[in-house]
Amino acid sequence: MKKNFIIIFIPFYLMLLVSLSFPQQREVLPVRLEKISERLFEILEGRGARGGVYIGDNGVLVIDAKMNKSSVDQTIAEIEKITDKPIKYLVNTHSDGDHIWGNQYFPQTITFIAHENCRKELFHPRRDGTPSEWNKPELMPFMPSITFRDKMDIYLGSKKVELWYFGVGHTTGDAVVYFPEEKTAFLGDQIFWGRPQLIHSYKGGNSFEHVKTLTKMLETLDAEKYCSGHSEILDRQAIRKHIGEMKARQEKVKSLIEKNKTLEEIKAEFNENESRLIEGIYDEIRLNIH
Ligand SMILES: [Zn+2]
Repeated sequence: MKKNFIIIFIPFYLMLLVSLSFPQQREVLPVRLEKISERLFEILEGRGARGGVYIGDNGVLVIDAKMNKSSVDQTIAEIEKITDKPIKYLVNTHSDGDHIWGNQYFPQTITFIAHENCRKELFHPRRDGTPSEWNKPELMPFMPSITFRDKMDIYLGSKKVELWYFGVGHTTGDAVVYFPEEKTAFLGDQIFWGRPQLIHSYKGGNSFEHVKTLTKMLETLDAEKYCSGHSEILDRQAIRKHIGEMKARQEKVKSLIEKNKTLEEIKAEFNENESRLIEGIYDEIRLNIH
């Protein structure tokens, strides 16, 4: 009896341990393109964030780079199925690995472009304090070689692509890539939908600035569609809702601090998956960086 117990339950216990120590990784599906217009596509699946492809008159612009060779190879193969025009530009929306690590698997002939703060962030130590991988000289050709500060226009023949910077938020260097004809903006990770917003305070990100930055973006761009690195395409109403929810969290944290609640007590007032965001808001208020 005891032997049976061991035979049946030990493997079960081991399986449980293994599954707890390695959280279920989502199955990686092959990269595919989803049409927004005749020229504009979202890049879905593969390893890394969602990105975009724009086919201009004389070349292609890619938004964000996935994060391993096979996903980049698949992206390039998918682009070659819809156009024979060369990939000229790759715009990184920000410095997170799931948007930029794949740069190194694209041909060196491509011009990599990002906000100036995104390039600076690449040299910063990682969250755990270890040096950035981007300090390796062999990665230099794949870093953004052209950077912009407030706005930059890229012409692909007669077609214009606008790069905008509206301020600090998720990081300090988040670019918005806007396609006026399609009224579509690619926001990178400046909006998370259905899960709490990530604010990388270790990179200088700030939730209060995030609210200002997104508000400025809504006031400036006439976009109807907003593509995100990790969500379905959103509309203006969703962006407004996201801003409102962030403001409500900030107000609630502020009022709980005024009532002398501890961080743990404050976190307990929110959903468990919001802990990191709430801790960030708490620090911003306590350190008066808002
Ligand atoms: Zn991301």
